[in-house]
Amino acid sequence: MTCKCGIDLTPKAKFCPECGTPAPKPEPLKESKIEEILTTYEAAEFLKISRWKIYDLIRKKQIPFKEVGTQKRFVKARLIEWMQV
Ligand SMILES: [Zn+2]
Repeated sequence: MTCKCGIDLTPKAKFCPECGTPAPKPEPLKESKIEEILTTYEAAEFLKISRWKIYDLIRKKQIPFKEVGTQKRFVKARLIEWMQV
């Protein structure tokens, strides 16, 4: 977090120690951003294919996905790109 005057603020700082300006609030995560990440189930729905088919595509690494631990996650924008190829 940086003040308008260019001073780096600590996350807990309510005011800039340099110019006294109230610290900007961290932006809340926008819903549209959250929607860009899909679970396997949501990705299958989005692509209008069966979950069985999406697991098949994952296994063959034919679809762009991220592994978060044991979970698979899909970035909607990447799926759209992938569909357009
Ligand atoms: Zn400042």
